[in-house]
Amino acid sequence: GKVSNYLVKKFGFNPECVVVAFVGDNPASLAGLAPEQGDVVVSLGTSDTVFLWLTKPTPGLSGHIFANPINQDDFMSLTCFKNGSLTRERIRDEKSDGSWEKFSEMLKKTPPGNNGALGIYFDQMEIQPFAEGVYRFDGDGNKVDSFPPEVEVRAVIEGQFIARKVHAENVGFQLGPNTRVIATGGASNNQEILQVLADVFNSPVYVKEVPNSAALGCAIRAKHTLEGGKFSDIAQSAHPSVLVASPGQFTEVYAQLSARYREFEKMVELQSQ
Ligand code: ADP
Repeated sequence: GKVSNYLVKKFGFNPECVVVAFVGDNPASLAGLAPEQGDVVVSLGTSDTVFLWLTKPTPGLSGHIFANPINQDDFMSLTCFKNGSLTRERIRDEKSDGSWEKFSEMLKKTPPGNNGALGIYFDQMEIQPFAEGVYRFDGDGNKVDSFPPEVEVRAVIEGQFIARKVHAENVGFQLGPNTRVIATGGASNNQEILQVLADVFNSPVYVKEVPNSAALGCAIRAKHTLEGGKFSDIAQSAHPSVLVASPGQFTEVYAQLSARYREFEKMVELQSQ
């Protein structure tokens, strides 16, 4: 509706001023990134955060479900993962001489699926699930103490991204043929890491550099309220998304790894209790 008479009289607002309901900083950030229905937003910062656009909410004990800041009939979920860039950095320092270039080269030397090797790297107590420690499993499912350097590099990235996908599915998200992954945050500068993201999600990955996305999201919401039309059209003119990686043909490889990951993570969670 319009601004109240009280505010018009007291502060001199234009009586035609339209008011849009406010949202908190996380939903505002999502609005700033302007996803479309079906998109997954993966923020690869110090911690990693996954935002999902949901048409049906699946309330649970993990993560948060919010009203969708773009479409009032829909929902969004937010799940935060404590072990993001800091864990990737530790492996970079230990296996790649502290160089992202070398890390990327090593990532390219191993095949998608890592020949079945799978790792869980919770250097710090993870939020999702509540568990801590580093666990490595070889292709036969045996627990091992170490991996060759290249295998370790791929294992940390694949393990993290498979976890992001598995937990997205846990809150009711279904990857489909129209799913797009929008990547943001520090590690979205790394092409080889983004390729793994595309392969694991079996979806194209776009990047979007949006400084101050929460404030921008509120501004776009205000404009959208005034002008109507498609939210993404208004937002797209502010910050276009750029296609950076397309998925290879690894659906079966990652379906199997994801199923194994679920089991391993459950085991690790139980061991941490
Ligand atoms: P914050 O959560 O503090 O906003 P950023 O989104 O700025 O974090 O991301 C910072 C992280 O990005 C750093 O911890 C660093 O590990 C990571 N990063 C920066 N450049 C690269 C790169 N080329 N490859 C992988 N990770 C990178």
